[in-house]
Amino acid sequence: MVRENPDAIVVGGGPAGMMAGYLLARAGVRVTVLEKHADFFRDFRGDTVHPSTMQVLDELGLLEAFLKRPHNRIDRAELNWNGRAMTIGDLSHLNMPAPFIAMMPQWEFLDFLRDEAARLPAFSLRMSAPVNGFIDEGGRIAGVRLGEGSTLRAGLTIACDGRTSLARDMLPLESLGASIDVFWFAVPKQGAGQALRGVVAGEQLIVMIDRGDYWQCAFVIAKGGAEAVRARGIAAFRADILTAAPELTGLEVALPDWDKVSLLNVSLDRLTQWSRPGLLAIGDAAHAMSPVGGIGINLAIQDAVATANALAAPLARGEPVDGLLSKVQARRWLPTRLVQGAQRAMHERVLRPLMLGDLAKPGRPPLAVRMLNRFPLLQRIPGYLIGHGIRMEHVRSPRADV
Ligand SMILES: Cc1cc2nc3c(=O)[nH]c(=O)nc-3n(C[C@H](O)[C@H](O)[C@H](O)COP(=O)(O)OP(=O)(O)OC[C@H]3O[C@@H](n4cnc5c(N)ncnc54)[C@H](O)[C@@H]3O)c2cc1C
Repeated sequence: MVRENPDAIVVGGGPAGMMAGYLLARAGVRVTVLEKHADFFRDFRGDTVHPSTMQVLDELGLLEAFLKRPHNRIDRAELNWNGRAMTIGDLSHLNMPAPFIAMMPQWEFLDFLRDEAARLPAFSLRMSAPVNGFIDEGGRIAGVRLGEGSTLRAGLTIACDGRTSLARDMLPLESLGASIDVFWFAVPKQGAGQALRGVVAGEQLIVMIDRGDYWQCAFVIAKGGAEAVRARGIAAFRADILTAAPELTGLEVALPDWDKVSLLNVSLDRLTQWSRPGLLAIGDAAHAMSPVGGIGINLAIQDAVATANALAAPLARGEPVDGLLSKVQARRWLPTRLVQGAQRAMHERVLRPLMLGDLAKPGRPPLAVRMLNRFPLLQRIPGYLIGHGIRMEHVRSPRADV
């Protein structure tokens, strides 16, 4: 059902948009989420649901139901560097409701949020509803323009439409540059596997995500290097994969040509101002994240929680919120900057030199990696950072029925 006059519009039904929609509706705010695709069953980017996200689900009373959905659990981050297996993170000691990463395909997570949100009378979701632009009334955003000349008006529009967000035409953007791209493909799985595996072999890095009967693979390349890889031919690409990850067999059938290999552009950027009257951007719309650390989904969820904490109660009371919008950026700016800074450092100091063959001692893992592997107590530090994130949000927005 689509509400004609919502209190708030959410553009985009990704992790940020679905969680923001859920939390606002839970507080009694009449909210409409507009998603341009017909379903969530697309090969989204990333499957990692971190302990901080599950902490939020626990605070909402949804964790048990969430964990009934198909997923794999990992409580250790492992890396194979030129044949040397190493542990670089340990989450098992976290004092949290779910001290592990739940590997769940993103469409499964979004289906879950949709099903839970559908129970809330104030929630409305419209699929196949691409937003074309905003209604700008003298500098204030008063809603959105949809196809065929129709419009939808609301006191607040939240842009959760990812890294190509329409809000980026209206708010200042700072690019941090990204030095990697990713080839993305699936290979049927033979036998048992681990849930998440990173393999470094020579100048190659492959991340393998266990999706039950197949591996979803990310083959990391230097930014702009896709054409050179393609020019060598699909057979050479298959040979590179097999050298790095010999367990990926049956590649002739899985990857007969380049049609089965998608190129995903990695971006790293952020809006320096996340709002203007009537409009707020959160998630990748406000800060596009690299896949490094598998953190983007979780940062998007934290933004949604911070948004509801700041705005749900006044919106539910029918009060104007323009004066409160900057509070969301003020709250989430530090974690965004620190996480993007860490991702950028990984791009520049490890991934790019690795791919260009510029590492000082390519056969040898970086010092930090060796230290982590050698001293298990140190593995708790990345475990803590992955599990808690930086400035973990707790649900403080109200529930309409209590
Ligand atoms: C290659 C790659 C791999 C990644 N792997 C991981 C990972 O393993 N773990 C992790 O945590 N993060 C990962 N990330 C980052 C992660 O995907 C994002 O940070 C996260 O999805 C952001 O969530 P979001 O809801 O803000 O935006 P998105 O997930 O991008 O969702 C935006 C939604 O808006 C919709 N939309 C867009 N435009 C419109 C419009 N005009 N009208 C209506 N709807 C619209 C889109 O269809 C989409 O559903 C990866 C990123 C890349 C590039």
